[in-house]
Amino acid sequence: MSEPRAETPSFLDEVFDQLHVSDDVRTRLAQPRLALTVNIPVRMDDGTLQVFKGYRVQYDDTRGPTKGGIRFHPRVTLEEVTALGFWMTIKCAVAGLPFGGAKGGVAVDPKPLSRLELERLSRGYLRAIADIIGPERDIPAPDVYTNATIMGWMADEYYQIRRQQTPGVITGKPVHLGGSLGRTSATGRGALYVLQQWAQRRRLEPGDTRIAVQGFGNAGFHFARLAHEAGFRIVALADSGGAIYAEDGLDPALIMRHKLNRRELKAMLYCDASVCEEAEHEEISNAQLLELDVEVLALAALEDQITADNAGRVRAAQVLEIANGPVDAAGDRLLAQRGIPVLPDVLVNAGGVVVSHFEWVQNRGGEYWDEARVNDRLKNVMEREAGRVFELADEQNCTLRSAAYRHGVARIAGAMHDQGTREYFQDAIKGTNVE
Ligand code: NAD
Repeated sequence: MSEPRAETPSFLDEVFDQLHVSDDVRTRLAQPRLALTVNIPVRMDDGTLQVFKGYRVQYDDTRGPTKGGIRFHPRVTLEEVTALGFWMTIKCAVAGLPFGGAKGGVAVDPKPLSRLELERLSRGYLRAIADIIGPERDIPAPDVYTNATIMGWMADEYYQIRRQQTPGVITGKPVHLGGSLGRTSATGRGALYVLQQWAQRRRLEPGDTRIAVQGFGNAGFHFARLAHEAGFRIVALADSGGAIYAEDGLDPALIMRHKLNRRELKAMLYCDASVCEEAEHEEISNAQLLELDVEVLALAALEDQITADNAGRVRAAQVLEIANGPVDAAGDRLLAQRGIPVLPDVLVNAGGVVVSHFEWVQNRGGEYWDEARVNDRLKNVMEREAGRVFELADEQNCTLRSAAYRHGVARIAGAMHDQGTREYFQDAIKGTNVE
């Protein structure tokens, strides 16, 4: 089998050239340091045995233990997990966290599983990867279709294997099991802080800023709720069941309450009721939502939503990437040509991993912070790093994505250069003084 490689973005070469990084950095970032494939046997409720494929990829750990979520989704593949691990490496560096990047996943549709089956699968996956994770080594967290409950089961399984309580092994845990206050809403909140920084620079008034949000899960819901509270106008929302539109604005918290009420039994783990079941608004298709005339298109579902096929029809004035990779490379080029700025995922959705870092710090220190402290610190980090990325884009006349990568890669390259590169060792061989 060929080595899994992240399909590195086409502009990455330009980023490397611009930063004058050593070829060693390119070589090391071209492939993951570790990619594990596991088969997880799970006893189903009807007595049959099913085997699920799972993956854990630790992409790069030069800047610290690797960090990245676990996704339960039928389309999970080693290639996807590898690409997501690469993005995590960049994201942790963009946010200035002392972490490298990783990702994990299981190819499964979790929705039809019973809670007991889901618990057995979660514990089985953790057992399969237990040897390569740890608070000082690789620290998982939730991602698509995994949540705090699942992280709690996985942490418990790890403690049973190690025979010790090491809550820093996994973040995004329930608060009563060592999770951090503010973690659940951190990705959406962080995205809002980035948008607010951007709005200030562009003199966008929240009340005049219409936002369409694709994805109404953890990231999309909290972003929409908090943006609404901050005075922005959420005019459209979509989940996998469909989309709704209201020119005067929607109240995301109210819509979530209705959505949960419809499926009380399943609401704790997954909410299957679609936002489309709401009245008092126009029902539109998911494709239409992407092409609405709005100030901000916030993408908080899955990857590859804006591609060469539909980028030409996007009418939003700017795109906010809350999901990982929602705009593909061709879509990105087309949006850039059309002068539509894309606020990139590696910056916009970093709030989740920033508060995961806070959780890891609290777990290791054994002292817990109140929510105001978490949110304050999150705000500081997001504003500082977003400001730096926006300045870089202005100074170097490049896209925001390119600026974010320059910012992150400069930190990773700095760490790799400090370990010694080919140039350093060749100089030493030639007899140059070693400093
Ligand atoms: P989630 O499972 O909680 O929610 C996903 C949402 O997307 C659901 O509302 C689902 O109905 C919707 N969806 C799925 N397919 C859709 C489609 N075709 N059209 C419209 N909606 C669709 O997942 P999440 O945790 O919110 O993650 C969403 C994205 O954000 C992912 O790309 C994830 O990697 C990224 N992300 C999440 C976090 C986090 O802390 N949760 C952190 C960083 C990045």
